[in-house]
Amino acid sequence: MNALSDLATKTIQAHERLNEHYGVQEIYGRADPMHELIGTILSHRTTHANEVAAYRNMRERFPTWEAVRDAPLADLTAAIRTATYPEVKAPYIQQVLARLIEERGVANIDFLHDFSTEDAMQWLTDLPGVGPKTATLLLLFNFRKPVMPVDTHVHRVTQRLGIIGPKVSANKAHDILLSYLPADAKVLFNFHKHFYWHGQRVCTWHEPKCSECVLQSMCDYYQSGGTAVLSSTAGRRKG
Ligand code: SF4
Repeated sequence: MNALSDLATKTIQAHERLNEHYGVQEIYGRADPMHELIGTILSHRTTHANEVAAYRNMRERFPTWEAVRDAPLADLTAAIRTATYPEVKAPYIQQVLARLIEERGVANIDFLHDFSTEDAMQWLTDLPGVGPKTATLLLLFNFRKPVMPVDTHVHRVTQRLGIIGPKVSANKAHDILLSYLPADAKVLFNFHKHFYWHGQRVCTWHEPKCSECVLQSMCDYYQSGGTAVLSSTAGRRKG
């Protein structure tokens, strides 16, 4: 077995172990696609509570998407001020809505169901303020497309395990993980959710709870005593 297939095998084994530990989930969307699209623009470097407050305040102040698009920029910026960088996000939101309404006649992205995964990724990432993480979250959760959102938790845990190299970016990790896993939205959804939960609850940034971890026997970071070379995003094991 070569190194590449070793890593693919390890990825599948880690996935199966976390499936047993957390239980297999059905795919669920978090909000309607338009809410999710605009909400994820608001969410960049913002706590969930502040994102929710910004979104709610924006919709109360401007109840239709056309009203958000046409709002005076200063008023929209003020409405989303609980999000970080509101002066950057407000024009992004208006540009996204303007393009969408001009192109489709309505603020609705349900047409992405009919797009191939590649075309949907391209369309979304061409929008201002929408990067691969936003696009993959939207496409996996709301459209059940076979993509892999790599957030900070998925990135950190896969790096500590040794599945992803220490200098591999989240965007590159997306392609690597997809090459190791089947192109099946339910598999990818469960992989994402489980690694996300594991990073939040067990393999935390500062003090990973290795003694409680079901991945311990296959973890490069643990096996090295916490000395495995890691990127700055992966943190250190204490004690
Ligand atoms: Fe993270 Fe420790 Fe588990 Fe490795 S053994 S995945 S470092 S919690």
